[in-house]
Amino acid sequence: AKKKEQEPVCFCTNEMMNYIKRKYQIVEILKECVEKNSFEVYFQPIFDIHTATYRKAEALLRLPDNPLGFVSPEEFIPIAEENGLIAPITYQVLEKTCIFIKELMKETIDFVGVSVNFSVIQFMQENVEQKVLHIIDQYHIPYDLIKIEITESMLATNYDAIMQFMSNMTKHGIQFLLDDFGTGYSNISYVLKVPFHTVKIDKSLVWQAMKDKKAAILVRKMAEAFKEVGLHVLAEGIETQEHIDFMKSCGCDYLQGYYYSRPLPKQKALDTIIHNEVA
Ligand code: C2E
Ligand code: CA
Ligand code: CA
Ligand code: CA
Repeated sequence: AKKKEQEPVCFCTNEMMNYIKRKYQIVEILKECVEKNSFEVYFQPIFDIHTATYRKAEALLRLPDNPLGFVSPEEFIPIAEENGLIAPITYQVLEKTCIFIKELMKETIDFVGVSVNFSVIQFMQENVEQKVLHIIDQYHIPYDLIKIEITESMLATNYDAIMQFMSNMTKHGIQFLLDDFGTGYSNISYVLKVPFHTVKIDKSLVWQAMKDKKAAILVRKMAEAFKEVGLHVLAEGIETQEHIDFMKSCGCDYLQGYYYSRPLPKQKALDTIIHNEVA
């Protein structure tokens, strides 16, 4: 009995221990990637319904090969945010996006831009604006080829700072996309008050519309309303011909999804966009 009392007290179950350990490992991987600028940025081509070509893309972050194998951004982005790493990471994504655009500009003139995902944590920091403009300037990229995706939940948490940022960036010709529309934080007033260029209808909503008549009606009416107030509409999660037919019939401008292309490593994305290898 005596021996037992001397053992360290631990309130953790094995599961909790594994969770904490994995999180710690991910933080270490992220720190190393920031230090070495060794993140990979994939680009998912976006289909433009009006021209039937790929003229846009979204930059999506990937970890390089690491001992944990594939780790989804859904898992590591929140960890980066909690650990003060999201700001340097976003600037590195922006830089790699500029390099990507630079190469595209050599090959095609039809191209209209690449969007980068921003996190709300970014705006807790000062001079985001100067930093963003400075990076774009370094690569001599026209401002209007860079687009920024933000979510509604971000606006709810840091409205004033983000509004300020958006109106200043908009003056420079940088467009904003409202990401994840329809995922639970939707507040129509943001769509009206904030100078967005495009609304991205979340994939969950697109998929639900296929199964559920009411959802289909809502998606159609919302898409029509956005169009009527002068916004562009993009539908995410396009995986089937059925998705295409429905979203086209709703008057969508852009389609993004595995049906057209998965997110691709830089060179493959360049080839796909330049040669317009539409599925
Ligand atoms: P998101 O911004 O909504 O990005 C779209 C996600 O949907 C991407 O997942 C993309 O690969 C996936 N997707 C696109 N088309 C389809 C489809 O047809 N079917 C299905 N099932 N999925 C599709 P990914 O790359 O795993 O990224 C997940 C999330 O992680 C992103 O969601 C975004 O919130 C975050 N994220 C990714 N890269 C960055 C980044 O550089 N910065 C920040 N702050 N967040 C990022
Ligand atoms: Ca996004
Ligand atoms: Ca999205
Ligand atoms: Ca999402």
